[in-house]
Amino acid sequence: MILDSTVYSGPCSCGREHRMVTRAAIIEPGCLNRLEEILAEYGIGGKRCALYGANAYAATAGRHPRAEQEIVLDPAGLHADEKSTAVVLERLEPDVEVILAVGSGTIHDIARFCAHERKIRFVALPTAASVDGFCSTVAAMTWYGFKKTLPAVAPEIVVADIDVIKKVPMELIRSGVGDIMAKYVALAEWKIAHLVTGEYLCPRIMEIVRQAADTVMESIPGILEGQDAAYESVTYALVMSGIAMQMMGNSRPASGAEHHISHLIEMGPAGLEVRFPAMHGEKTGVGSVLAAREYERLAAIEDIGPYLKDYAPVSEAEYRAFFGEKLAEAIIRENRDDCLAAVSKQKLAEVWPEIREILAGIPKAETLYGLLEQIGAKRELEDVGVSSQALPVILKYSPLVRNRLTLMRMRRMIEA
Ligand SMILES: [Zn+2]
Ligand SMILES: [Zn+2]
Repeated sequence: MILDSTVYSGPCSCGREHRMVTRAAIIEPGCLNRLEEILAEYGIGGKRCALYGANAYAATAGRHPRAEQEIVLDPAGLHADEKSTAVVLERLEPDVEVILAVGSGTIHDIARFCAHERKIRFVALPTAASVDGFCSTVAAMTWYGFKKTLPAVAPEIVVADIDVIKKVPMELIRSGVGDIMAKYVALAEWKIAHLVTGEYLCPRIMEIVRQAADTVMESIPGILEGQDAAYESVTYALVMSGIAMQMMGNSRPASGAEHHISHLIEMGPAGLEVRFPAMHGEKTGVGSVLAAREYERLAAIEDIGPYLKDYAPVSEAEYRAFFGEKLAEAIIRENRDDCLAAVSKQKLAEVWPEIREILAGIPKAETLYGLLEQIGAKRELEDVGVSSQALPVILKYSPLVRNRLTLMRMRRMIEA
């Protein structure tokens, strides 16, 4: 299937003009074999560097794109961080004009960041349907331990070969499902923030993300049967979620409380023991179940009035005690203009019935849990390296990793 993203560019009913960098996504079995033809068609010439993860290098054997330079990164302990990007920037020959990213989400984040630094073109060749970030305009990086999004470039084109994507370990597509499942919570957060503070919202972007999420959920039986069409649908949905982020200019449509839970676990603050690492989508899958469950509990409250308290900032001492000295400065800086300060008790009480309606649109936590179970994905905190005892702490502190208005952040004003 070929996705022409130019249809998403231009003036929109939301009042804004959406700008797309990604011109097209080609998602088909065997399309890597046609790469030369595709690059020529889109006028992408010049000296190339292909950046691989070692696993992707093996998975694409016999289909490696022609490139004047190849950089293959060792996947052991590989993160999109200040270290790996420094390695790539150092090795990248100075006259390279195009980076071809061949691999998973991490390779893409490294490539898009380096392409931005060098101001060169970027083409995405995802080998796994593991995350929705292939098309993103920002890179999800861990920068000196702090999880943040840094400016980067979106790929001009995406070429996703389903023959390759089907062959990678099942846990990667499980991660992709967990990343897309997150959208139900993320979209509810966006609607709630729009309702409470009038934050900008684009109905068209919302619909794209909603459809992407539905597509993945419907594809689960096909994935289990190994059907090409199901793999294609999931990859397409992940690409569409990235397109939605491009239209928006940030990750608002695709990331809410469930992503903040994932980011918190990934950052490993002093007050949270993380026993082993897990993939991004595994953590957002678990995060989705936890957020959905907590929101069901809150939605059961008919009259929120008696439970509300005034806004109060988090004290510096509290930041330091939980996040530890290594992360405290960055977290304090992130929350300096706390978006929650714009929320009043009165407003929350007034719109609570509408918030409850929005929350009713999130699939039940048990449904999400069941879908994860069906594909054999991780679904408990313990499965992603964290004690289940840590749940209250996770719900309390995860919103602080990103200064974005979520209902989880509003919980600071709800004592229930
Ligand atoms: Zn719009
Ligand atoms: Zn994600």
